[in-house]
Amino acid sequence: MRSLYGKFIAMTAAIMVISGTIAFLAVNTYYHQYLKGQNDEKNMIIAKSVASFIQLNEGLNLEDYLAAQSAMGYKLYVVSERREAKLYGKPFRIENLSKKAIDQVLNGEVYHGMGNLPSETFVTGFFSDESANTVGAPFIYGGERHALFLRPDIKMLFTEVHYILGGMVLVMAVISLLAMLMVAKKLIDPITALTAATKKVGEEQFTGTLDIHRKDEIGQLANSFQQMTEKLSENDRIRKEFISDVSHDFQSPLLNIKGYAQLLLDDELPEASRKSYASVIQSETERLSSLTKQLLLLTSLDQLSSPLNRRTFDLDEQLKETVRKYRWLLEEKEMSLSMDIDEVRYMGDPAFLEKVWENLVLNALKYTEIGGAIDILLTERENEVTVTVRDTGIGIGEKELVRIFDRFYRADDSRTQQTGGTGLGLSIVQQVVKLHGGTIDVVSQIGEGTTFTVRLPKL
Ligand code: ADP
Repeated sequence: MRSLYGKFIAMTAAIMVISGTIAFLAVNTYYHQYLKGQNDEKNMIIAKSVASFIQLNEGLNLEDYLAAQSAMGYKLYVVSERREAKLYGKPFRIENLSKKAIDQVLNGEVYHGMGNLPSETFVTGFFSDESANTVGAPFIYGGERHALFLRPDIKMLFTEVHYILGGMVLVMAVISLLAMLMVAKKLIDPITALTAATKKVGEEQFTGTLDIHRKDEIGQLANSFQQMTEKLSENDRIRKEFISDVSHDFQSPLLNIKGYAQLLLDDELPEASRKSYASVIQSETERLSSLTKQLLLLTSLDQLSSPLNRRTFDLDEQLKETVRKYRWLLEEKEMSLSMDIDEVRYMGDPAFLEKVWENLVLNALKYTEIGGAIDILLTERENEVTVTVRDTGIGIGEKELVRIFDRFYRADDSRTQQTGGTGLGLSIVQQVVKLHGGTIDVVSQIGEGTTFTVRLPKL
């Protein structure tokens, strides 16, 4: 059976059969070990009292008396000295009383057939309807020795008990199976719901919530599944948004390039326009190239499965080198620069960290007007190093501030838009800082300037 219902039912039935068999064996062993002797004693008392009653009442009608005894639920087997045998009550199922036992009782001894019944694993001695499973006592009647063997007629005495016990077992089995079905249903229903939900998620349908409200392991599973679905749905949304942003960001420079390239095809184009169109094409190509590089960098940061390529290097030198790279821009924009840099050796990934400083310094340069100022600080503390890049630039509005680390986000400011950025720089910065276990904070005031503070923990 492949369904869980089938398995539950088969398991319950198997458990009932196995436990029933074990219970039978245990009870049977108990009978043979302890009860067999007691049962023998009990019946021996009855046999002896019957025998002594006959012996004490000379004029007794033996036939009638024994028939009356058997009517009370006993099987009595009487053998006379002359070997005349007579059974009172229903015949035994197995006639196996030995000649030796009969001789023994006729000689005046008693016979403990019940107590001495050999143990058999699958036969309950108590119920075994054999003439050997009796007790025997002698008596004298009409001057002749007799042997009396008796055992209770279990069938007659206990038929109702059998029905009651059998009925009880049957009702218990049916109730157990039905209860098991109900329990199984309670367990399986949420699993079926989860399976259906899993299929839906597999088909990228993230809608709908699971109607499972339980506190047990299945409830926890449903909860985790719900969280996973929400996360997948969010990721799916981000991915789609990302693709649309990327397409859009590629589309506009490509359109520009196409348009200006078309204009360049005109043979009569004046030299000045030709140069100007070519320079637009060049700058748009550069934009596309930097966009591609940044996208590749972001993807590699996202997919970074192995840990960072950490090594110890001079962080102060790296910062100075970054500033040196953009000195021409500083001079072009007539900006002042102050640096307060401790000598710091840091254990991190120099290639990725270089991108952090490049982006922060370049942003400070891009978003600060001519004649502004930039401060760069590097301080070493006991557990961390702090890098601060401060500018006196255009600043970022409160609403924009929360979004500047989002991919492709660019503050909707005409001055910002003119700089030809991609909106990916700060997401790269944040990602790299996060991978180093650090944090990045930003404080900004429109028209006053912006301060980015990066804190990197020391290993
Ligand atoms: P971009 O390529 O546009 O510079 P970033 O991710 O580096 O992309 O920055 C996102 C946005 O944050 C920028 O478009 C800009 O509006 C704002 N921004 C970043 N740094 C500064 C800064 N130093 N001063 C003012 N605005 C800034």
